[in-house]
Amino acid sequence: MHIHTVLSPCADLEMTPANIVERAKNTGLQIIGITDHNSTKNALLVKRLAEKEGIYVLTGAEVTTKEEVHCLAFFEFEDQLNQFQQFLDEQITIIPNPDGHFGYQPVVDENAQILELIPNYLAAALKSGINEVQQKVESLDGIFIPAHVDRPVNGLFSQLGFVPPELKFHALGISRFSSEKDVRKHYVLDAGIAFIRNSDAHYLQQIGEIYTRFWMEEINYSEIKMALNQQNNRFVEIQ
Ligand SMILES: [Zn+2]
Ligand SMILES: [Zn+2]
Repeated sequence: MHIHTVLSPCADLEMTPANIVERAKNTGLQIIGITDHNSTKNALLVKRLAEKEGIYVLTGAEVTTKEEVHCLAFFEFEDQLNQFQQFLDEQITIIPNPDGHFGYQPVVDENAQILELIPNYLAAALKSGINEVQQKVESLDGIFIPAHVDRPVNGLFSQLGFVPPELKFHALGISRFSSEKDVRKHYVLDAGIAFIRNSDAHYLQQIGEIYTRFWMEEINYSEIKMALNQQNNRFVEIQ
């Protein structure tokens, strides 16, 4: 649920939609999440290619909030995804990325041909704070998950020091370097909060190295939401 394509400045140029789908298929993943920094522009192509292989794709982005907290946001339909893209375009701080200074940011087609090169640095912070971003995601019926909360930078704990009591989210993401037990030991968190852990893949070989198992009736958006909310005997389990 946390894979970067070639569009992210920090991701390997081998992370094309076609290569990601092939790697996901070879590692036996049934659900993947596409989360480029502040952009959704390669996600729909991954979804289209993955559907042919029977892989379900959560399309979204990894948002950098004003507080520099990274949060995953996913949307079920193309229309919602496009509305969120518009929000990202309006809210991102414009920092130029001349000659791929921070890394190249191509939107590509299925043959890895470049359709567009995004000129401004995509991992820059938005002008909106975490609550505003959450509310936007919620208004589009999205899934909202603060990412790698345990990391020393760009996590909820490093940036804010705590989970804001009014913040609504579907789960908390933890990095490959921690366990749920470690995080619960250091912070007081409600037992009902679900945790997911994933690769945050920037290189092909990282896809599937770390994953979360979803216990549910079938694979669809509302079942995934239910599993994250631990409703109706659905739940998630970190592997
Ligand atoms: Zn991140
Ligand atoms: Zn990431």
